Amino acid sequence: MHKKLFIPGPVEVRQQVLEKMATPMIGHRSKEASELQRRISDNLRKLFYTESEILISTSSGSGLMEGAIRSCTLKKAAVFSVGAFGKRWYEIALSNNVPADKFDFPLGQAVDPAKVDEVLATGEYDLITITHNETSTGIMNPIEEIAEVAKKYPNVIFCVDTVSSAGGTKIEVDKLGIDICITSSQKALALPPGLAVCTFSEKARARAEKVQFRGTYLDLLSLYKYIKKKDYQYPSTPSLSHMFALDYELDYILNVEGLENRFNRHIEMATVVREWAERYFEIFPDKRYLSNTLTTIKNTRGISVSELNKELGRRGFQISNGYGDLKEKTFRIAHMADMTVADVKELLLNINEILALE
Ligand SMILES: *Cc1c(COP(=O)(O)O)cnc(C)c1O
Repeated sequence: MHKKLFIPGPVEVRQQVLEKMATPMIGHRSKEASELQRRISDNLRKLFYTESEILISTSSGSGLMEGAIRSCTLKKAAVFSVGAFGKRWYEIALSNNVPADKFDFPLGQAVDPAKVDEVLATGEYDLITITHNETSTGIMNPIEEIAEVAKKYPNVIFCVDTVSSAGGTKIEVDKLGIDICITSSQKALALPPGLAVCTFSEKARARAEKVQFRGTYLDLLSLYKYIKKKDYQYPSTPSLSHMFALDYELDYILNVEGLENRFNRHIEMATVVREWAERYFEIFPDKRYLSNTLTTIKNTRGISVSELNKELGRRGFQISNGYGDLKEKTFRIAHMADMTVADVKELLLNINEILALE
């Protein structure tokens, strides 16, 4: 039986989108490929509220995280981490020989903008990374306040991982002054895994020009130059199947559902899950900074999360256990992508039945 996925990626994908993945191939050096990819970039600019160029990579989101920190750090990167995905930025930097320091906040807490200010005031750093929505703890960082701080430091490249939030919550890239905003196909964009996209500002481009060793496949500057020269064709063969599906889904997001409706639907789904979590368990992270796309719930009843998931599986649903050290201590319900409020309520009813909650 297919299990409906309430996990924070890969998400449930609509049948129509899956069918678009099966579109017959076109040449990647054709006019059609240019048109397809140009249209996708134009629509992604609307989704991200930006005038910046869009770069698409046939990799998952981590690929563009690597591309960003490697292509745009000249001096040293400051990584602000509130969990597993913050730590990932740091590991990527170290393994690429990119100088970096990591500043940690306790699990379940958000980034303190005052700390960002303090760190940047040292003048040691020329790039920062923020995880907008930390998928391990269910924190959505106060990006507006962090952006206000970042704006005080015009020589610092502002990179934001919005992998588990873009497409599910409003992220106004230009208003926030984000230079590189990254997401993956398999989260709130509601596609299968395999494609990553990012915004790439003029400031980020100018910085990358000064960085000598940017790698090849994930070099953001060479991606940028190539699409500019070759009318939105990419240096190597992209996953055209994903392009067809993304083109279709972006039209759905922008013109059928509408961005505001989509963001509101995510808030509604989050509200339902939070109310349920408060009633039967507790919410794990700081309640001032709750994610709109997933909820991390403290296992206050001491249930076996893996047993619950097994039983859910028999009924055609899947949720996520806690991440890393938070396994069994917490569990996670994703409420993102093309999921509906009714889907979420159906899941919660099934959990109530299994755990005999009233
Ligand atoms: C899933 C996720 C990633 C990793 O993305 P991949 O597409 O799997 O490489 C990075 N950051 C966050 C916040 C995520 O949720």
